[in-house]
Amino acid sequence: MLNIALIAHDKKKLDLAMFVKEWKDVFEKCNLYATKTTGTIIEEKIGLKVNKLESGPYGGDLQIGSLVSYGKIDFVIFLRDPLTAQPHEPDVTALMRVCDVHNVPLATNLGTAEAIVIEIKKNLEG
Ligand code: PGA
Repeated sequence: MLNIALIAHDKKKLDLAMFVKEWKDVFEKCNLYATKTTGTIIEEKIGLKVNKLESGPYGGDLQIGSLVSYGKIDFVIFLRDPLTAQPHEPDVTALMRVCDVHNVPLATNLGTAEAIVIEIKKNLEG
């Protein structure tokens, strides 16, 4: 099973939830990891089981980065809010960096996320 990490900053959480709902048939066939608030929304609104880590500002982005460095994550969707300063900006940068170090696909907007999910769906359908 593919392991997918989902993170969205506050103003992007609705966008991510709608995206996961639209592609629920794909996401329900994957192991999902998420920062706490993002994961809670996906569990409660979309009804998918999510392995929830800490909230982003409390270290959740770094926990996901750690999973990436252990080779446990295949794909990261990280919808950042490019218009709002984040107190945990260094953690955001660290997560993106570790994805690049380990060559793990990282989607920071829905266009990229959709392109990758379409590819995952094709592979799942074999
Ligand atoms: P959250 O964390 O899902 O707990 O809000 C995301 C973030 O702000 O990085």
